[in-house]
This record gives sequence, structure tokens and C-alpha cells, in this order.
Amino acid sequence: MEFTASGAPAATGCAPRICLVTMGCAKNEVDSAAMARRLAAAGYRIVEAPDGADVIVVNTCSFIQAATEESLEAIFEAASLPRVAAGDASIVVAGCMPARYGDDLADELVEARAFVPCSKEDDIVEVVASLAGPASGDAPSDAADAAGPVFSYVKISDGCDRFCSYCTIPLIRGRYRSFGYEDIRADAARAVEEGAREIVLIAQDTGRWGQDLPGNRDLAWLVDQLAVELPDTWLRVMYVQPEGVTDALLAVMAQRENVCSYLDIPLQHVSARLLRAMNRAGSAEKFAALIDHIRALVPDVTLRTTLIAGFPGETEDDFEALCDFVAEAPFDYVGVFPYSREEGTKAFDLPDQLDEDEKLERAQVLRDVADTVCGARVAARIGRAMPVLVEGAEEDGQLYGRAQCQAPEVDGVTYVDGGNPGEVVQTVIADTLLYEMEGECR
Ligand code: SF4
Repeated sequence: MEFTASGAPAATGCAPRICLVTMGCAKNEVDSAAMARRLAAAGYRIVEAPDGADVIVVNTCSFIQAATEESLEAIFEAASLPRVAAGDASIVVAGCMPARYGDDLADELVEARAFVPCSKEDDIVEVVASLAGPASGDAPSDAADAAGPVFSYVKISDGCDRFCSYCTIPLIRGRYRSFGYEDIRADAARAVEEGAREIVLIAQDTGRWGQDLPGNRDLAWLVDQLAVELPDTWLRVMYVQPEGVTDALLAVMAQRENVCSYLDIPLQHVSARLLRAMNRAGSAEKFAALIDHIRALVPDVTLRTTLIAGFPGETEDDFEALCDFVAEAPFDYVGVFPYSREEGTKAFDLPDQLDEDEKLERAQVLRDVADTVCGARVAARIGRAMPVLVEGAEEDGQLYGRAQCQAPEVDGVTYVDGGNPGEVVQTVIADTLLYEMEGECR
């Protein structure tokens, strides 16, 4: 066997090994999976562990400062691996960070041998080839024999045209671009072939899908079409801005059993003045009316939202009104984020910025309000019958999965007493603990 300067076996004689490390949100996971598919198709071997890889691709998140810092930590961790330190393996920094910071990054981040911003991710094979040499033939991957995940994210567009004043996404990801139906259907069908029983449609702004495509296709049409083509698969839509909630979409949710009656509607705040400063629309009254309308058309709908605490100019009265809204509006899940002041955004220059401690404190107060209200709504499901998609088992063998009212990774899980991963079991909810549920199979 041939050894390298770091003492690790050399990669000569077999396909170069590539490890993708993904930071940030589900949208980045989808991008990493697409890069992995391209690399595998080109003959590279995709591995799980970075310490044996010839190239480590860190797919970064740079949406807010905290995410940038986490991505930097991942890069420095990769740089400290013996094979990287000895020069036998290389780091590629991909995704949002090179898109946001551009050429400045190359001077600052000497650990990286190459940068691939999100708009250039199709070039990943050429970039890896320039570092690790070409690959040929079918290469096995660490995950080749493993069952695919029970759910799969499918991205339906990229970019965003809304330009919320606090958000870096339009700077990083560019203008809104809907993906064509055939591509979305192919991604969903491949995930189902690999074992997915639930497809989660994601984008920065899913409700806008189709507006830039020829014809009259919209999100409601897309979801309906996929629901018909994949009748045994659950479909879920995330990140529908309030303006994207249409009666047609609600009708599809109400009519199609395999479309989860679940809406994730980012409101961000309820003060009309602050929403205007955010370059968004709405008010507490308008949002309350929207929620009533949704519940009238889809009575069993599960609602999630995200809110920002401590936006510049948020007075104590504004914050109190936000807490009151959460206490009264029937949301099942609420994600709370302290405002993050990001360079390059309009909100960066707004007056009346709150200090960091105040923002963190308000966010925690709001989370506590949400936990009380949402925890009670989850507890009210005790005694209700609902199907649960079994996802896996804990180390002690306890099976868990999710009901249609629980989105992956954010809403907790349901522990069940029967079934196998990938199977939908009929349960009755026997108990809850804040956001977790316990279902007894019938
Ligand atoms: S809708 Fe607003 S917050 Fe969401 S990605 Fe677009 S600009 Fe950012």
C-alpha cells in the first residue's frame, strides 16, 4: 500500500474520495445532494467521513453572521485534519459564503484551494478534477447500499425578488427563478424511487413558483400535479409567504389526502410600521384575517410561522403586541429569531438598533410565550387518530416518525410502538411532551 506524507493510505489506484460537509438550511442540503450526484456520475467516490477524503467540499451558509461563523469553524476543522494539513487533501468552499463575500474571500481564507459560489455549483466536477485529478467509471459511495431517507427536500426555485430589508438572500442567491415542472417532477420521482415517502417542497419563496414561467402554472397546480403523479407519497410545502396563500392552494390541501394540511407562513412581525421598514406587507389585523380564512377552508390545517424579535425601531409596545398576537393566534409552531444586523442590507443602516442583549432577551420571551401556546395546541391532539410516517429508531430501539402535522427537523417527532421505517402506521395520540408526541398503533 502507498502512504502519504500524513501517514494515511494514498488514494491512488481508485476514484478520488470526496466528502461534502453541509452547513445551514434544507436548501443547502438539496444543493449538496445535487453536487454529490454530479461527482458520483463523473466517477468520484462520495464518502461520509472528511478525514479520509481527498477533497472536502464545505457547502457554506452565510445568511447571517452566526451562520458565517459556523461555516468558518467547519472550514477550520477540515483544515486541521492530518491529510489536509499535510497537503494530501484539499478544501473547496462552496455555497453562500463565496457568493456573499466574492473575491475578498480568497485573500482571507487561505485554507481553501477553490471557491464555488452557489451560482457556479454546476462546475463542481471541473473544480474537483483540477484538485484531485479526473475520475472514471462507476465509483461506490459510502451510502450506496443504505436505504434512502424517508423524506426528501425538493427545491422548486432559487433566489428571491422580495428584498426584505434585513435579508442577504437576494444578494447571495440572486433574482427569483422557478425551476421547470419536469425537473421538479424528476427530482421528486428519483427521491421516491430511493425510498422517500414524503416530498417537502422548498424554496426561498415557494408561493411565487410559476410566475416567471410561461403559461398559468402556479404553486397550487404544481402541488396538485405532484399529488396525482405520486399518490402514495406525502407532499408538504414550506415557506409560503402570506401573499402566496391562495384559495386554489388551500383547496388542493383540503381535497388531496396525500397533501399535508400544513402551512409554514413566515410573518416576521405584526406591526404594520415595522413590516414596512422590513419592506414587507401586512398587519396584525390582516394576518388574523388570513389565518381565519385558512382555517375556514382547511379546518384541520397545522400552521407554523417565523418571527423576528428586536428589529430596529421595535418599541416595547411593538414587542408586546407581537407577544399578544402569538398568545392569541392559533399557530401550532413558531420559530423565533433575534434580528441579526447584516452588512449590505438596508436594515443595517436603520436608526434605533437594539443592543444584542435586548434582542436575545426579547427572542427568549417570545419563545416562552410560543412554547406555552403551541405546547397546549400539541397537547390538544391527545386522543386524535392520525397516520404517522415511521422514520427510524433511537439507539434503544424506540421507533419514531412524524404525523402530517409535523414538518421534518423543526416540529418534533412522534414516538410509535409499531411499524418499520418508511411505513405509514395508523395511530392514536396517547401523550405529548411539549412538541413531541406519542402514538399508539391501532
Ligand atoms: S422573502 Fe424576504 S426573508 Fe425570505 S429570502 Fe426573500 S428577501 Fe429573504
